[in-house]
Amino acid sequence: MTLFRAQVLDTPDDPFRGGQLRADADAGLLVVDGMIAERGPYADVRREHRGEVVVDLRSGLLLPGFVDTHVHYPQMRAIGALGMPLLEWLDRCALPEEARLADPGYAQEVAGEFVASLVDSGTTTALVFGSHFAPAVDLLFETATERGLRVTCGLVVGDRMLRPELHTTAQRAYDEARELARRWHQNGRTRYAVTPRFSLSCTDELLDSCAAVHEDTAGCWFTSHINENPAEIAKVRELFGCSYLDSYDKHGLVGPNSVFAHNVHPTDAELKLLAATGASVAHCPTSNAALGSGLFPLDRHLSSGVRVALGCDVGAGTGFCLFKEALQAYFLQQLRGPEGVPLTSAHLLHLATSAGADALGLRDQVGDLEVGKRFDAMWLDPSPDTPLAVGLRHADGPADALAKTFALATPHDVHGVWVDGERVKG
Ligand SMILES: [Zn+2]
Repeated sequence: MTLFRAQVLDTPDDPFRGGQLRADADAGLLVVDGMIAERGPYADVRREHRGEVVVDLRSGLLLPGFVDTHVHYPQMRAIGALGMPLLEWLDRCALPEEARLADPGYAQEVAGEFVASLVDSGTTTALVFGSHFAPAVDLLFETATERGLRVTCGLVVGDRMLRPELHTTAQRAYDEARELARRWHQNGRTRYAVTPRFSLSCTDELLDSCAAVHEDTAGCWFTSHINENPAEIAKVRELFGCSYLDSYDKHGLVGPNSVFAHNVHPTDAELKLLAATGASVAHCPTSNAALGSGLFPLDRHLSSGVRVALGCDVGAGTGFCLFKEALQAYFLQQLRGPEGVPLTSAHLLHLATSAGADALGLRDQVGDLEVGKRFDAMWLDPSPDTPLAVGLRHADGPADALAKTFALATPHDVHGVWVDGERVKG
């Protein structure tokens, strides 16, 4: 049992639906077996629990751990290749790097770098795009388990238009996925996600095998890409003769457990179907800007009732930290002029935490620091001479402090990260 004392900010109620930032200047959070058992003014909680160990975090800010809903493990070393649109970037940068994970020694190193980078950035839960190679996916699950990260991941599959060494068959994809799911699905903090690369690289036969894995693995997740780039969308229409979302939907792959990355150029019919089925969209703004994919129509997602969360989309995205990603989401909406959604710091925190937990079906466990939730948290404690520390000292209230945090914070300012009450950083 541990009593945490801190200034706490979180978003238990969705700010897009009238919820407010919750700010407690001096809160006590009693954590028992990884769960928040009590929360209240520190003095009150302390009075009831005089004997407990107190972790005093008052020099900084305590936030819920970040939930990243789209990030590619094999692209760790491909971050920062600028100046190309999606399909050229895939051919020249991402896919050659993905092919190197055929070597388990190489994959082991990358898995270590990848998981460490997520934890370092304050991310406690992630929906991870795995590798095309089953042993490499195994290594990611193993590494995440060792570091304590909450991870949903799966074997990435494709059977056309990639590199030959990345292609699989419908039967092999099914067998390897089922074996990985047997080992890792609902095992501690890990879950399995069926993961076709994108419908562009998948025949109908392969998507059918994805549907079979999804059906045979109760409670598993589904993730892929959608509507990222106009040239990509045109090719999907040419191959399938239908909209991008319909290329998945005709295989039964669109539902409440589905998370689609990007959706920068959706049709109204696609938004309607996403909302009706309860599927979520992972918005990846640094990636969208780096590849020139476009300005995300958040207003149309919100008015259609589509759930939206954030993903860093490394390696097209430019880093792991959702402070930067959320700030970029804010920038993009500002640049959309009258159609842009003006985002407050509470919206940004929601998108990076509770919205992600909701998209991953984990809202009852993580995403805020309410009683009954797991203690998945990060402690921001910048050095006193940094612009962030100066900003926090002079902030005009909690919402302003949070805005300054999104503008200025980096992983260097994250001094503590906990998952299930276990300290995984610091
Ligand atoms: Zn992606």
